[in-house]
Amino acid sequence: MMYCIKCGEQISLNNNYIRDFRFCTRCGEENAERLKYRRETLKSLQAMNLESKIAQTRYLIKQSVQEFGLDHVYISYSGGKDSTVLSDIAKQLYPNILHIFANTTNEFPETIRHIKWENEVNKTNIITVTPHGSHNELWTFKRVVDTYGYPMFSKRVSNAIRTYQHALSERTKQNSIDYIQRNFKKYYSYIDLNISDKCCDKLKKEPIRKTAKKLGMQCAIIGILASESYQRKKDWLDYGCNVFYKRKDNQSRPLSFWTNDDIIEYIRKYNVRIPDLYSIGYSRTGCMYCGFGVHLESLPNRFQQLAKTHPVQYEYLAKNFGNFLNKCGIPI
Ligand code: SF4
Ligand SMILES: [Zn+2]
Repeated sequence: MMYCIKCGEQISLNNNYIRDFRFCTRCGEENAERLKYRRETLKSLQAMNLESKIAQTRYLIKQSVQEFGLDHVYISYSGGKDSTVLSDIAKQLYPNILHIFANTTNEFPETIRHIKWENEVNKTNIITVTPHGSHNELWTFKRVVDTYGYPMFSKRVSNAIRTYQHALSERTKQNSIDYIQRNFKKYYSYIDLNISDKCCDKLKKEPIRKTAKKLGMQCAIIGILASESYQRKKDWLDYGCNVFYKRKDNQSRPLSFWTNDDIIEYIRKYNVRIPDLYSIGYSRTGCMYCGFGVHLESLPNRFQQLAKTHPVQYEYLAKNFGNFLNKCGIPI
């Protein structure tokens, strides 16, 4: 028996919305209309010029501060170019606004240096959090991989493989296999490898959440762009930029409608300092050994690039994870 996720009406063959089986026909049509309108809104926001985008972003940041108070909002800071632009705009309004940076133990040395510079020279108010367990033991990337599995291919694929590997009954195991066959057929041959999506939770999300809670934070301001991925765009279509009281955690995403070109234009125009990694050919900062998206990269991929720019860190990768990456078909 299935029920429409919007109105709760029972769904039968006669009233099932054909393009999205979660809805009855009426709700499915309404939802399609709403999504069409939201897509057009996003497009027109993305078409604005840089100065209008900055004004809109400032407005959204102010809105979260008005809603929760300056002492209860923080910038979730990664040290990358998007969150550095966000930080630059937010500090013009609130110079001492709190930033929380999660050191995942898998950071480029350039990122760590940039955080140090931001904190000590640029006087940005940053707290660095590290991943610790309940007995205060440090969770390193290797420990997460050994305990749970490597973050590989994509979050969705890794999650599906973890679900399959932890299925408690034959029936759920078979359901997981069917799900993978239906949605990620080409990854089926990897389902018994040591893969999982737990890494981000352990190394990034949990440490930030724990500290934010301890400090009485109520809203995270995050520098993500809807144009970055299918998932982020979908999330914007559903929730917009400022998501207050709708989900477990309040979030403000005031750069959602920016594009990568806007970020670069802002950095050049306002002479914003970003980590040296960008000047040696990297287009992203983020974790050195992360496997999400690596299979889609043209060669040299991120690991081969690492071999050239950071030989010591590359040696560590090859020694500890070389065999595994080989089994996943990732050249290193
Ligand atoms: S970005 Fe990748 S490596 Fe870094 S914490 Fe998340 S899953 Fe782990
Ligand atoms: Zn309905």
